[in-house]
Amino acid sequence: MESFTVTQKERISELGGGPELMEQTFESSEERNKAFRELEKKLVRECRAEISKLVNEKHMTRTVETGRILEQWLMDEGFTKVVTPTIISREMLAKMSIDDFHHLSEQVFWLDGKKCLRPMLAPNLYVMMRELHRISKEPVKIFEIGSCFRKESQGAQHMNEFTMLNCVELAQVKDGEQKQELERLAKKAMEVLGVSEEEYEIVVEESTVYGFTFDIEINGMEVASGAYGPHDLDPAWGVFDTWVGIGFGIERLTMALNKGHTIKRYGKSIAFIDGQPLNV
Ligand code: ATP
Ligand code: MG
Repeated sequence: MESFTVTQKERISELGGGPELMEQTFESSEERNKAFRELEKKLVRECRAEISKLVNEKHMTRTVETGRILEQWLMDEGFTKVVTPTIISREMLAKMSIDDFHHLSEQVFWLDGKKCLRPMLAPNLYVMMRELHRISKEPVKIFEIGSCFRKESQGAQHMNEFTMLNCVELAQVKDGEQKQELERLAKKAMEVLGVSEEEYEIVVEESTVYGFTFDIEINGMEVASGAYGPHDLDPAWGVFDTWVGIGFGIERLTMALNKGHTIKRYGKSIAFIDGQPLNV
């Protein structure tokens, strides 16, 4: 009995073929190679059809669509979109408790001694929500969607550059009601994305930045992390009201929605588009 070679399996997997296709066995290597050529042709056709559909009809990748759906929902809820710099200072990170001794500091891409690529949106959002609250004297609801950067060991769920959507509400809920509001936002997000209640869970996770976070997991994979305050980090930012925030990983979410196995297919790439490989 012959099964597909390692190289053949890699190609099948690259073309989006699942394990059920790879486990086939054959009488001879000729038969196997013939079956591989046919399967490859079929998968290539399917990938090309998906890419054609993208450029001719959809005009928007699944990842872009995930972000758009969440953005629209948030604006309908009265959140304002803000856009802040990708390059942040060492002091901003230090205020998040990420100093040279923090394990996350090893994940930071430093541009020079004083500046780095942001690993998260929270530092800028702390400043924006504080200032908007000071000026408006009203509760503040804002969100940002943009690239974040972390040196990662490159597993199937991590990229060095990924897209985070972070929404925060300041002085919006009474003290004691933060957790409830966080759950409401998490549930609503899953609802607008069409994730059913059986498919996701809200779980408490330990965090080296926030102490603990409330994570949304789809089939066991973390797709978002939420936190709330008053929090130990707040005084350093001049924030003294209640707040509730959630950070969604847009590529992770898209991968989960598409039952994908590798995040890079859904990330910023010149090798993949909309989940499909370009070498077809
Ligand atoms: P993980 O434990 O999975 O590394 P995290 O808890 O460090 O994630 P958070 O800081 O909570 O990540 O970031 C919020 C969300 O951003 C995560 O829930 C995840 O969906 C996404 N995310 C974080 N790091 C990455 C990464 N390197 N690549 C892609 N998505 C990421
Ligand atoms: Mg997290």
